[in-house]
Amino acid sequence: MGVREHVLEVGEQGLPFLPVITLKAKFDGRGVITCERAYEVDVHWIGRRTLPCLDGECQACLKQVPKKYEGYLSVVWMHNRKHEIVRMTRDAMLIFKSQLCSTDSLRGHVLHLVRKGVKSNGRVIPSVEPLEIETARLPKSPDLRAHLAKIWRVDGIEVDHDERAYVAQISEFVDRKLLENQQYHAEEEKKRADNGRATG
Ligand SMILES: [Zn+2]
Repeated sequence: MGVREHVLEVGEQGLPFLPVITLKAKFDGRGVITCERAYEVDVHWIGRRTLPCLDGECQACLKQVPKKYEGYLSVVWMHNRKHEIVRMTRDAMLIFKSQLCSTDSLRGHVLHLVRKGVKSNGRVIPSVEPLEIETARLPKSPDLRAHLAKIWRVDGIEVDHDERAYVAQISEFVDRKLLENQQYHAEEEKKRADNGRATG
């Protein structure tokens, strides 16, 4: 008899949580890329959140919600060792890609990211540094697609689990948010009209 050992493997309880972050104003940091390649998609911004633009009949596209590009890279930051997924704009991704000599794996490249200016939507300037980190020392390459699918859950439903249910849920969500938007603007309009009468 002895002590029964139980060594935890990372990932035993499903996906280890990796936050998806947007760089803050004045951000300046270096990170080592842990993914093999970027995850690049189009997204819709609605109801104060992003939802993916779906192949085929996208409900958000059908309802004329604008879409935009977003790219995702996972990095381990040098200043705090945190492993995070960084949201990249189209421009930042274009600059980043233009600096890589080959399209082989991104893993192990050191990326310096700076957000210019004092605004949270200031330009992000990426630069790939000449050194490379031995990839064996990095955390496992995360499945970015699976991580984003979790972030994009609508009422608990993930796109990868049940696409039909997800499409129906998105449709309902978009309708609800468009209606809320309309109501909000109607109220604002009414307030402005009332104020106009009161002062005029
Ligand atoms: Zn769409």
